[in-house]
Amino acid sequence: MIKLRKNIATMPGYVPGYQPEDPAAYIKLNTNENSYPPSPKVIEAIIAEAGEGLKRYPEPASRAAREAAAKLYGFPPEWVIMANGSDEVLNNLIRAFADDGDEIAFVYPSYSYYGTLAEIQGAQVKTFGLTDDWKIKDFPHIYEGRIFFLTNPNAPLGFTFSQTYVEELAGRVSGMLVIDETYADFAGTTSLELVHKYDNVVVTRSFSKSYSLAGMRLGLAIARPQVIAALDKIRDHYNLDRLAQAAAVAALGDQEYLRETVKKIRETRQWFTEQLEKIGYTVIPSHGNYVFATPPDRNGERVYQGLFDRKILVRHFADPNLGHGLRISIGTREEMEKTIAALADIG
Ligand SMILES: *Cc1c(COP(=O)(O)O)cnc(C)c1O
Repeated sequence: MIKLRKNIATMPGYVPGYQPEDPAAYIKLNTNENSYPPSPKVIEAIIAEAGEGLKRYPEPASRAAREAAAKLYGFPPEWVIMANGSDEVLNNLIRAFADDGDEIAFVYPSYSYYGTLAEIQGAQVKTFGLTDDWKIKDFPHIYEGRIFFLTNPNAPLGFTFSQTYVEELAGRVSGMLVIDETYADFAGTTSLELVHKYDNVVVTRSFSKSYSLAGMRLGLAIARPQVIAALDKIRDHYNLDRLAQAAAVAALGDQEYLRETVKKIRETRQWFTEQLEKIGYTVIPSHGNYVFATPPDRNGERVYQGLFDRKILVRHFADPNLGHGLRISIGTREEMEKTIAALADIG
């Protein structure tokens, strides 16, 4: 008799965006990956590491990567932890701060995986909606749950909460405020300075989007040393393999490449937004590498299907509050030109 924990048996599990078997057959704009390749220095570093040395375990603390990140962001290395994708550190934050039955919360809509991670842990989940001017609806004077996750810029909608507002929230959360800055490189704004000012603030970053390294699984978190020490106890002791550590150091070391890639994506985002508006779409001004766009007939499903038939993958959420639109990742200019042509054709 197989006896699962009750919450595991009953939870539906997270459904990631569709990953086709032959991604090259599609224009793939459904999971906010980067259409540009990683920095050539990253590929070189991975190749250089891919030798006999792989028979040895990696450096357990990912020391070199932590130091590179600490230097880049202006923190001592004890304030940084490297993660096997930022998803790993989000998971470990819940494990560190929320017991069975404790509550965590996040904004709806944002990254629903926080809810899945909480369910695995047996934590309760609360969500807060949004006001029309992108504030959090009915946020209490003091939120008393263990963690409040704030995705900034917001995904899938693409707007940002202002830094003043984020700072206000830091003072209104009695537990931890985890600011998921997966898309911050595209926004050019960050709440990192709040980690210096407030001991309950954690900022997470991912290498999957801005650094074009979704396939390497790399992320990091910056927080007070006591928080980092707790996360270090929980993580898999060899959480980053040798190739990932080499890739992280090289990626963080090539900020010029990051800047160039981000600049191209921001320019294309601007162009694509204007083109969408010309064909009657409503677009939320985006600070990420994606836009949330609504067709004139507010039938996201129909347009999703039309694009799918033309081998263009975008994200449609079967959700009463999001089903009218589509989240479209910003690829290369050429990919977005083809997407606009397809959308005009679909009508
Ligand atoms: C993509 C994404 C993540 C996951 O990042 P990984 O580093 O690939 O694990 C986390 N949060 C948000 C909001 C994301 O969009």
